Formats: sequence, C-alpha cells, structure tokens
Amino acid sequence: MKLLVMGPPGAGKGSQSKKLVEEYDLTSISTGEMFREAYKRGEKLGIEAMEYIKEGNLVDDDITNEIVYQRLKKKGPDSRFLLDGYPRTVKQAEALDKMLADIGSRLTAVINIVVDYDAILERMVGRRVCKSCSETYHTMFRPPNVEGVCDVCSGELYQREDDKPASVKNRLNIYESKTRPIIDYYKGRGVLVNINGMQSFEAVYSDIKRALRELRHD
Ligand SMILES: [Zn+2]
Repeated sequence: MKLLVMGPPGAGKGSQSKKLVEEYDLTSISTGEMFREAYKRGEKLGIEAMEYIKEGNLVDDDITNEIVYQRLKKKGPDSRFLLDGYPRTVKQAEALDKMLADIGSRLTAVINIVVDYDAILERMVGRRVCKSCSETYHTMFRPPNVEGVCDVCSGELYQREDDKPASVKNRLNIYESKTRPIIDYYKGRGVLVNINGMQSFEAVYSDIKRALRELRHD
C-alpha cells in the first residue's frame, strides 16, 4: 500500500497518518525528517534545503524531488509507505508519478481530508499548550479548570507562534494556492478519496479505512 494523505494545516492529517502507519505497518516517508537527517550528515541536499526551511519557505521542487527519489529507489517497488509533507506542489506530484513509474509502482490512494477553513481557524487559534508538560487545551472546546493554568501540572498555558491567527491564515493561503491544486491533478486518476474531516477523529479514521478497503489492490 502506498498512501498520500492531504489536507490543510489543522485538518488532523498528522494524527490520522500516524494511526494509518501503525495499523497498516507502513514506512512514513517524511521530507522534513529526511532533510534534517541529510543536514546532520553534512550532505549538500540537506544544507541547501535548510536554507529554505529556515526562511519559512517551501523547499525548491528539484531538491525535494531528489531526496524522495533517492529514498524510493532504495526501497524498491514493493515497499509500503505513507508520504508525509510531500508532494506540496503540482510539479512535485508530477515528478512523484514519474519516479514511481520508474520503479514499476504507483500510488494506491490519495486521501483528501476536507475541512472548512473558518472552522480550522477557530480550532487552531483557540489552542493552548502547557509550557511544562505539553498538554493541549482549547479555549472553547476543552478549557482548563482555571484560565491559563494546566489541569495536569499547574504549568502556564500559552499560544504557540504558529497557532496565532496571522500564521494560520498564512499557512492556509499557501496551502490553497500551492498545494490544493494537487487534488485537481489526482482527480480522474482513480486514486482520489475525499473524506469529511469535520467529524470526530474516530469517525474520520473509520471513513478512511472503509475507503481503503474499497480501493485496495495491493
Ligand atoms: Zn502541564
């Protein structure tokens, strides 16, 4: 099984992916992690990529494609994986198709978690995290007993920089302009599955599993 999970920031992509990786015994291929590792090893690709990441930009398509290709070649056509953070542009999606064809393979499914942007904004800007134990709260949906204080350890709650409205809006804009077009690219290729993300974690996960059962070829 070769999966790609898509959805805007805040759609719950990360936690759904984590559960899929565990249950279906997949390798998680994360470009962010591969770049950090290559950087630590002092490789040219890693050093170049870090320059983009430090500035908060998407890493150049050629650099990103190259690091994924190296990994896919090493794994071979029978590997089972879930792609995390890649592809992020249509150019990357096209390159991915070519790489997979090259090693005699193709994606099993592209899971698209569909959510309402206003709801995401509300969900993310209300999030508060404990400075001491990292417990997560929400000003509306899961408020602490005492405002600003962690129920678990009495630590101070704060709002992460990337949960602030301007940052969330910026990330949603980047997603809308650069990443969302990938969904159109996969439409009509028989691999795209739209999942309603405006439900509980469990309901979203069970919808994904049902869709995979219907699609599964390998
Ligand atoms: Zn705490």
